[in-house]
Amino acid sequence: MNILAIGAHPDDVEEYVGGTLAKYAKLGHKVFTATATNGNVGSATLPKEEIARIRKKEAAEAAALIGAEYICLDYNDEMFFESEQVRLDFINLVRYCQADVILTHYPYDYNPDHNLTSKIVTDIPVMIPVAKLVTPEKPCDKIPTVYYFEPVNGIGFVPTEYVDITEEIEIKKAMCAKHESQIQWMKDNYKDTIGQKDESFFEAFFINARYRGIQCGVDYAEAFIAADAAYRMHPYRLLP
Ligand SMILES: [Zn+2]
Repeated sequence: MNILAIGAHPDDVEEYVGGTLAKYAKLGHKVFTATATNGNVGSATLPKEEIARIRKKEAAEAAALIGAEYICLDYNDEMFFESEQVRLDFINLVRYCQADVILTHYPYDYNPDHNLTSKIVTDIPVMIPVAKLVTPEKPCDKIPTVYYFEPVNGIGFVPTEYVDITEEIEIKKAMCAKHESQIQWMKDNYKDTIGQKDESFFEAFFINARYRGIQCGVDYAEAFIAADAAYRMHPYRLLP
């Protein structure tokens, strides 16, 4: 299958589903990572163009660790709004990747870019084959299946699906570690308000993976909810 993980910002998909993506890749599936925005406000010190360039490079390097391809739609961080062009860009992205499965944000998360990314991805699967919706990439003959990964710290999220990432936890950590620019940013911008203090803020995601692992009887897991049943074109699970 072709797997597409769409996050709002460079670092999101590694934090939330790096283990699952690594597992898909190990099983021989083709993996793409993508972000709606270029993360261009994610620095307290660097100019917007510079931090966007760094973050896209970090995302591409993280993807490369599992042989995945990274694509950035290049919208402005925290200033991401829906329009006809935005919807067409997302449709084009899915067509380019020939996606069978899309992993994206849960609709209710802490950040509006996350929530809008989730909404658009939820809306477009049935549009992917529609020929009258013209994009640079040709329509696909398949409608992708969408799974939501959990919001930050899993708040309000009751999983219906788990993926055992015990063998992938180290590669997930390595993928997150590529986003070095964000460790300092989280400390500069959020101080200790979201729980990191001395630890890297990535630690919260590893603790969450351990917690989800405890829930399903393995060492580490990532958790999902299948999106609207109307988009589920297969009666069987497509998560690894
Ligand atoms: Zn984000």
